[in-house]
Amino acid sequence: MEEMYIIGVDIGGTWIRVGICAADLKEEKIKHKIARTGKESPYSISTSVCEILNQLLIENNIEKEYIIGIGLASAGPLDLDKGEIFNNANLGFKIIPLKKPIEKKFPEIPIYFINDCNAAVLGVHYFEAEEYEKDNLVYITISTGIGGGVICNGHLLLGKEGNAVEVGHGLVAPRSKIQCNCGSYGCWEVFSSGTGVRNRALEAISEGKLNIDILLEIVNNDITKITAKEIFQAARKGDKLSKKVIDDCVFYTTVGFGLVNNFYDCSTIYVGGAMMKDHEQILPPIIKQFKENPIIFTINNPPEIKLTKLGDDVGLRGALALVKYKTENHKVIS
Ligand SMILES: [Zn+2]
Repeated sequence: MEEMYIIGVDIGGTWIRVGICAADLKEEKIKHKIARTGKESPYSISTSVCEILNQLLIENNIEKEYIIGIGLASAGPLDLDKGEIFNNANLGFKIIPLKKPIEKKFPEIPIYFINDCNAAVLGVHYFEAEEYEKDNLVYITISTGIGGGVICNGHLLLGKEGNAVEVGHGLVAPRSKIQCNCGSYGCWEVFSSGTGVRNRALEAISEGKLNIDILLEIVNNDITKITAKEIFQAARKGDKLSKKVIDDCVFYTTVGFGLVNNFYDCSTIYVGGAMMKDHEQILPPIIKQFKENPIIFTINNPPEIKLTKLGDDVGLRGALALVKYKTENHKVIS
């Protein structure tokens, strides 16, 4: 019998990742390509997905009829029924059709559409989690924004349109005057995402209450160069303002994880996303808090907190796992 293959696609605000793997999903057999996310028209993304996919098939000498399915994971919000992204703040169009234009080019292959963070928790479930964690598992990404995916009682939570677990817009400080991209005030991600950390630092600089010499030295006195990365760097060197911004980031992340555990009573929260490049400044104080005095943040028994090893590929891995689970009719997605 000829070998069969699975395709995974992960669409983010900056990068599109497309991967192909033999149907047994052995890690070492995954081959993938990356391209920048096109924002010229609502069809830019679907067009590049099809182009990259064709390249992968040609380069690996694989015919379309040996593809079992395409797992299509994307930044949301999504309308799973229509196969579209809607209202995404970073992608530039109110509605971005994804599933239909790809189906047109690959009509014989089933496409399974899913929110990227929901895919990511499936990726962790298949490729990384221990047996005892699998039935009550959470993945949280802390990146430009904050998002999550939850498997509770062995089932992936999707919600009515596929956007369950939008935890980054959970209100952790509803009386705050700090406005989020979503329009609300005091969302978790205004304090703890990469964008949030940068904005909080810029605000604190304009208030001028704390010394910022170390931070300014790192960016050669050009505050437009400040991103979360420089703030973490400055905090490591003892910069007071940067330290305060990161303390807040950590505090609200502890609040967020506590709420997630209250809602889903999870065994483990796996954490990923670009902010985890500085995980050693974020995760250890939270792990310590949940070990020594969890009750302040969560009434349920505290979860383990782990950094995902899957890095930037976690969404792509999840898209691949989704197809495998669909074809096996696995209970996690039933
Ligand atoms: Zn928000």
